[in-house]
Amino acid sequence: MIHIPYSIESIAQLLSGRLIEGTKNAFISTFAYDSRRIGDYKSVLFFALSGRRDGHQFIEEAYNLGVRNFVVKNESDYPDRFPEANFLIVPDVKKALQILASVHRQRFDYPVIAITGSNGKTITKEWLYQLLATKETIVRSPKSYNSQIGVPLSIWAMDERHSLGIFEAGISQPGEMKALQDVIRPTIGVLTNIGAAHDDGFISVQEKIAEKLLLFTGVELFIYNPLYLKDFKGEIPGKRQFTWGAKMNVDLQVVGCDVDPARTGCLIKAIYQDSSIQIKVPFTDAASIENAICCWATLLALDINPDFIALGMAKLQAMSMRLELKDGINNCSIIDDSYSLDLSSLAIALDFLKQQNQHQRKTLILSDVPSSGFQDKVLYAQVATLIKNKAVDKLIGVGAEITKYADLFEGEKMFFSDTPTLLAQLDSLNLENETILLKGARVFEFEKISKVLVKKVHETILEINLSALESNLNHYRSLLAPGVKITTMVKAFSYGSGSYEIANLLQFNKVDFLAVAIADEGVALRQAGISLPIMVLNPDVDGYDTMIQHNLEPQIYNLRVFNDFNEAVKKHNKEAYSIHIKLDTGMHRLGFTEIELPQLLQALQKDSVLKVTSAFSHLTSSEDAASDQYTDEQIAMFKRMTRSLEEVLGYSFIKHISNTSGISRRPDAQFDMVRLGIGLYGVDSIYAESPSPLRTVASLKTCISQIKPLHMGDTVGYNRKGVMAHEGKVATVKIGYADGYNRRFGNGVGKMIVNGVVVPTIGNICMDMCMLDITGVDAKEGDEVVVFNEQITVFDLARQIQTIPYEILTSISQRVKRVYLYE
Ligand SMILES: *Cc1c(COP(=O)(O)O)cnc(C)c1O
Repeated sequence: MIHIPYSIESIAQLLSGRLIEGTKNAFISTFAYDSRRIGDYKSVLFFALSGRRDGHQFIEEAYNLGVRNFVVKNESDYPDRFPEANFLIVPDVKKALQILASVHRQRFDYPVIAITGSNGKTITKEWLYQLLATKETIVRSPKSYNSQIGVPLSIWAMDERHSLGIFEAGISQPGEMKALQDVIRPTIGVLTNIGAAHDDGFISVQEKIAEKLLLFTGVELFIYNPLYLKDFKGEIPGKRQFTWGAKMNVDLQVVGCDVDPARTGCLIKAIYQDSSIQIKVPFTDAASIENAICCWATLLALDINPDFIALGMAKLQAMSMRLELKDGINNCSIIDDSYSLDLSSLAIALDFLKQQNQHQRKTLILSDVPSSGFQDKVLYAQVATLIKNKAVDKLIGVGAEITKYADLFEGEKMFFSDTPTLLAQLDSLNLENETILLKGARVFEFEKISKVLVKKVHETILEINLSALESNLNHYRSLLAPGVKITTMVKAFSYGSGSYEIANLLQFNKVDFLAVAIADEGVALRQAGISLPIMVLNPDVDGYDTMIQHNLEPQIYNLRVFNDFNEAVKKHNKEAYSIHIKLDTGMHRLGFTEIELPQLLQALQKDSVLKVTSAFSHLTSSEDAASDQYTDEQIAMFKRMTRSLEEVLGYSFIKHISNTSGISRRPDAQFDMVRLGIGLYGVDSIYAESPSPLRTVASLKTCISQIKPLHMGDTVGYNRKGVMAHEGKVATVKIGYADGYNRRFGNGVGKMIVNGVVVPTIGNICMDMCMLDITGVDAKEGDEVVVFNEQITVFDLARQIQTIPYEILTSISQRVKRVYLYE
C-alpha cells in the first residue's frame, strides 16, 4: 500500500470529524483495526471498530506499540491518557472507514472490476489476476477480503501506478451491498453464480439477487450467466451486457466439456461470434470449470484476444488461500505460503508467523516481491519495515531484486540469487528449532523448498482449520455478557486437535485461561512458549514440583490435595500461589461437597500460601432440557457455596460453572467466566439437528492403497466377515483401529467419502487398514478418502457406533499427523 500519504488533518476534513491533535504533521499510509495485526505503527490509522469486541478497548495496546493516529467514536479520557496521539472523533467508525475508502477510490479513473456471487468470488478474482497480470498493473483484494471492512481496506491499496482494479464483495444480509458499491464504484461487474449460501438473511431468492445486483449500479459492462437471473424480475444492470452459459442466445455458449482420460484437465468448447472456440483448463471439478468459464467470458467481453486467453487458461493455478503449518525436519515448524506474494498477503502470513511461540527463532524465506510497477526501493523499504515490526529473527532472501536491496534489512540476513542456489546450500544453513515461513512468488517455486523442509506425512492426516476454530471462539464470545471471561479447554491434546498449535491461536485471541487435564500437558505448552495462565484439572502429587516450576495452577478438589500442594508451594518459598477450587454440586466426581466446605475454609485461613483465583463446578447435563431442573439446583448450590467461600475469605474470586452447552443454553449460568470445550472444535449437540453457526474444525482424511475387483460371494478381511453382495470392487484404505477408527465401524456400519460418493466399510476393521465397498465409484489408487468432515460429521460417526463426539475426536491416535490451515 504505497501512495501519497494523507495528512491526518486532511482526513479529518474529509470525514468532517473533530480532530484532537497530540502529534503535528502526522501522515497516514495504512489502515488497521486490530492491534495485533499492524505492519507499520508510525503511519497507520487505527479504526476503533465496534464488532464482537469493541476496538476502543485496544487503543492502549496500540498506543504502547507506537500507534499515534486513531479514529474513535467518543473522546473519553483518551487525550489525557495518550497525550502523543491524534484522535479523530466521528459518529460511526465503520462508516468513516468506508467514506475514506470511497473518497480515495474516486481519485482514480482506471477500470475497476467488481465480483460478487454466492461462490467462487475469490477464485474468479485470483484467476482474472493470473490471466491479466502480464497486461495490466493490477490492484486486487487480498485473500478473500470482501466484507464491510475488508472492501475498504482493499480499496485503500489503489494507487496511481495501477491500471486495473479487481475487487470482490460479499454480503450476508440485506442493506450491506449499497455500502460496498459506494466504496468500490465498479465500472465492470462480474456475477459468478447464485446459490443457496447465506440464504438465511434474505426473505427470498429475489431479494437476495436484487441486493447483490446493487453492486453493479452504473457499470459500463456486466458479465453474467442468465440462468442465475431467471427468477429475477427487475432491471439487469450495465450499459452493456455479456452473457454466458449453456443456453442458446448467449454471447458465449458453452457446448461441451471433455475431461481428458488421465483426469488432469478438461477441454471446454463454446460458440462465440458464430465460430467454435475452446480452452483447456487443468481442472476437472464442476466448480473450477464454472469459474474458468466465468473468467473466459469476462476476458472476451473485455476484447482480449482468444488465443491469449487460451494460453493463460491452460496455466491457471489451483490455489489455496490458506496457510499451512506443518512439522518440519530438525524440529522446525514450517508455514507454507508459496501461492502468491504481495505486500498484503505477506503481512497476513507474518502475523501468523508471529503467533507461533513454539520456537524462539523465527525465520522468513522470502523471494523477490513482484513489483507491479512500484518503485522497487520504496517497496523493499516497506517490506523491511514489515519484517522488523513482525519480529522476524532471520531473513533468507531469494532473488536478484531482494538481494539488490539487502542493505535495507536489519538483523540477521542472507541472500541467494535463486531457488536452486538456496536448495544447494540448504544443509549448510543449519535450520533447526525454528519456525520458518516460506513466502515466495509463484515463479520461484518455493514448493521445492517446502518438499525438503517438511517431514514426510503418513497419508492419513487430520486437517485442522484454525480459522474455523477462531470463528467458533468468536461465536461463543458473542453469547457472553460483557466482561465474562473465557477459559478454553485444551485437555486431551485439545480434543485431539493439537497442542501448542491450538494454544498459540487462543493466546493470540486473548482468551483468559487455558485448561489441561494433567501437568505434562501444561508443561508441554510452557515449553512451547505459552504464557497464558494454565489450569490443571487433574494434578498428581508427583507432579507438584514440576507444576510450580512451570507456573501451572491446580484444581484443588479435596483437603488432601490442598494440604499437599500447600506444602509443595512452601518448599518453593512462594506465596499467594494461584489455585482453583473445585466444588461438587451434583456431578459426584471431584470436588468439595457442601458438607466438606467448612474444612476447606478452615484450611484456607490457617497458614495457607495459596490464593483462590477461582472456584468452579461442573454441570452434569447442560445440554439436556429434560434435566434443566437438576441444572437449576446445581446453579443454586454453586451460588450458596461460593458466597460462603467469599464471606470467609474476605476477597472475591472468579466463579464459573458453564461448559460448551451451558454457554449456548444457559445465559443465566455465565457467572464471571465460562469454560469452552468441544464447541471450540465445532461440535455442540445444541446445533446437531439445525444449521449450525459453528464451523467444522477437524477433517480426517486418508487414501486408497489398492483397489480390487471382486465377484459376488467373495469374502473380505479377517474371519471372512465381509461378503460381496454383488459383482464389484473394494478399496483398501490406510486407516485402522490403531489410528482411532473404532473396530465397531466395520461391516458397513462406518461410511467414508470417495470422490464425492458415500461408501460403506466392508469386513472387519484391521489394525492399520480397512476396506470399503466402492462398487460403481470412479476411483483410482492414491485417491483421497474422507473419514469425517463437514459432510460426514463426527456426530454421524458417534451415532453409528453409539458413542459421543468427544470420544471420536479424542481417539484419533498420535500417529495420525495433524496439518494446520489458516485461511
Ligand atoms: C472438559 C471440561 C469442560 C468442557 O466441556 P465441553 O462440554 O467440552 O465444553 C469444562 N469443564 C470441565 C471441568 C471439564 O473437564
